[in-house]
Amino acid sequence: MMLSSEETTHAIEVMGEMFPNATTSLTKTDPYHFMLSVILSAQTTDKAVNLVTPALFERYKDPVDLANASQAEVESYIKTIGLYRNKARFLIKCSQELVERFDGVVPKTRKELMSLSGVGRKTADVVLAECFGIPAFAVDTHVSRVAKRLGMVPVDSDVLTIEKILMQKVPQDLWIKGHHRMIFWGRYQCMARNPKCRSCPLLDICPEGRSRV
Ligand code: SF4
Repeated sequence: MMLSSEETTHAIEVMGEMFPNATTSLTKTDPYHFMLSVILSAQTTDKAVNLVTPALFERYKDPVDLANASQAEVESYIKTIGLYRNKARFLIKCSQELVERFDGVVPKTRKELMSLSGVGRKTADVVLAECFGIPAFAVDTHVSRVAKRLGMVPVDSDVLTIEKILMQKVPQDLWIKGHHRMIFWGRYQCMARNPKCRSCPLLDICPEGRSRV
């Protein structure tokens, strides 16, 4: 049985009671540098990203700086994080495109954001939400797992389907908060390997939890 809109919204409210301060763990900066942080965070932890960005952003203060940077030098700043070669390429290319097409200013629409190198739908959604307060429900690995386990979405849903269903089921003013709460829920309550089902306040409505305890 899928959770109804009311049950889905209720679950996100319960998550908010447990994690009232759930928010992005990436260091907040200006939109340009924040967008780069989100690109860097793919398949690595926010913590690892936060360790490399101060020196990187000190060296490259604006899109023109990075647009003219050498790949090897950018790599040297980010080599402790996963996929750093690809990411260095994306940072440079994305900055070049920003300069060429957007006067160096981060655009405020999903379509324009997704036209930039290294910016997929999730990155665009996170930038819209965090930098401009534009409602979006970014789906990462935690949001995806939690939504499936709780039966908010069918288990075979892809990320785009998950995003669309959550946006349908949850009131718009909870999209950004819901994204953060589900990430915290996935990190600290409903972890991939050992979810804390026995002590979970959502156990009574969670099909996955009931099958585990
Ligand atoms: Fe996750 Fe278990 Fe809670 Fe369900 S009952 S949300 S699987 S921790």
